Amino acid sequence: MSQELSGFRERARGLGADFVGIADPEGFNNPDYTGNRPQAFAPWIRSIVVLGVIIPKGCVEPLPKGRAEYTNTLMAGTVSLRTMGFTLARDLERQGYRAALVPSEGSEFGTWYADRETLKADLSLKYAAWLAGLGEYGLNQLLITHENGPRIRMTGILTDAPLEPDRPSGQSFVRSECASCQKCVKICPVKAISADGTIDPTLCRDYMFSTLGGLRCGMCLKVCPL
Ligand code: SF4
Ligand code: SF4
Repeated sequence: MSQELSGFRERARGLGADFVGIADPEGFNNPDYTGNRPQAFAPWIRSIVVLGVIIPKGCVEPLPKGRAEYTNTLMAGTVSLRTMGFTLARDLERQGYRAALVPSEGSEFGTWYADRETLKADLSLKYAAWLAGLGEYGLNQLLITHENGPRIRMTGILTDAPLEPDRPSGQSFVRSECASCQKCVKICPVKAISADGTIDPTLCRDYMFSTLGGLRCGMCLKVCPL
């Protein structure tokens, strides 16, 4: 690996990322993964960089009040990630590689990045984060990181740069604490989360984009004790 690439993680942290992981795109061929694969539109891909920031606690604690502040704080996280991701993508291209940024969420400011009906993105950023060992899944279908639970935002960089990949943590795919917790199952206002580990994303989407007028809900994140 070139000297520039070996310093890639430090560069990302220096730009403001709270955590960085590298996923091997081959992991998207695992038989348990049922989403879209990045190779379908980026056959040159060799690495997926996952960048994350921590969500400030002050926007989570008042929920379900303060949803405007919660949503705006999430979007500020998205903007920060987009800015640092763009800088890193340009760095990679200056070194002769290709790079593209993965959206932080399915929809933003009226634009649908995910398929509007199936709600599937071009790739699952959460799955990439799991491949990179950054956490496991919760019943709320959020990535549960080891230090900050689900209170994080992420983006990804698809690249043909041969970065050294991380590996999944080796813990169970769904956090073991969920079996005796179920708080997100009980708090969800539209019963979108089931105790069997499935979620109906259309119920969540309709609640946020119709009932809440586009503001984010956040209750399954707020109640999570992890
Ligand atoms: S964000 Fe709200 S509506 Fe969506 S799954 Fe979580 S608690 Fe339910
Ligand atoms: S609220 Fe409880 S059940 Fe839901 S993801 Fe967090 S730990 Fe798991």
